[in-house]
Amino acid sequence: ESYTARAVIVAAGKSPRLLDVPGEKEFTGRGVTYCSTCDAPLFAGMDVAVVGGGNSGLDAVVQLMRICPKVYLIEITPTLRADEVLQEKVRSAKNVEIMTRTAVREIHGDNFVTGITVENLETRTLRTIDVKGVFVEIGLVPNADFVKELVALNRYGEIPVDCGAWTGVPGLYAAGDVTDVPEKQIICAAGDGAKAALGAYSYLVRLPVSLDWSDQRTKQ
Ligand SMILES: Cc1cc2nc3c(=O)[nH]c(=O)nc-3n(C[C@H](O)[C@H](O)[C@H](O)COP(=O)(O)OP(=O)(O)OC[C@H]3O[C@@H](n4cnc5c(N)ncnc54)[C@H](O)[C@@H]3O)c2cc1C
Repeated sequence: ESYTARAVIVAAGKSPRLLDVPGEKEFTGRGVTYCSTCDAPLFAGMDVAVVGGGNSGLDAVVQLMRICPKVYLIEITPTLRADEVLQEKVRSAKNVEIMTRTAVREIHGDNFVTGITVENLETRTLRTIDVKGVFVEIGLVPNADFVKELVALNRYGEIPVDCGAWTGVPGLYAAGDVTDVPEKQIICAAGDGAKAALGAYSYLVRLPVSLDWSDQRTKQ
């Protein structure tokens, strides 16, 4: 179906990139999580694994290493890619074990996660680690493909907006995780949504009389 509108607000969010290993789907929400900002405190006092050696992964480790006895950081490539300052913090923590060239092969559990099996890609050896939490921090994909012909996405595939949630394209607004606004939290997305709605309203009421949306509605 196609709809006609004079203004559009895109709020399609982001989808977490998945590990795609046995146990991941089964234990999502029962030990497997994709948001350390949201879920880290739930794992206080427990051993956990963080998958992903970029900035998101190391942000997660920095939060978790203060509240968890042991944090395993698992990165598939030979090196961590996070900012140097985060790497220094993580490397200097006594309770963080960094495993590069290592891939997660399986997540185990009963009702909740009890451990993971990882493979060292150099030695091809498998190791099972007891953890209660698995933080998957291997990237989030913005659901913005369908607007990429209208607006230039940034290098992360996000929709750039100004502080009024405007994309720079007349009538096109965007809000929440799909945008380049840095913090990806509900309260931020809701605030951005309000800004986008006000921006769209302001745009609509300033359309010439011939295009005025309220006129169109009255005529119908
Ligand atoms: C596991 C997890 C836990 C989280 N926990 C918290 C928390 O505790 N507190 C917190 O503040 N934040 C949390 N967050 C972050 C929070 O969920 C997001 O910041 C917030 O939901 C963003 O809102 P949004 O409306 O931009 O996107 P979303 O909430 O992702 O909503 C986007 C919607 O658009 C739909 N959609 C996608 N593509 C299209 C399309 N082409 N057409 C139409 N619809 C489409 C999607 O199906 C979805 O329903 C969590 C995130 C994750 C992944």
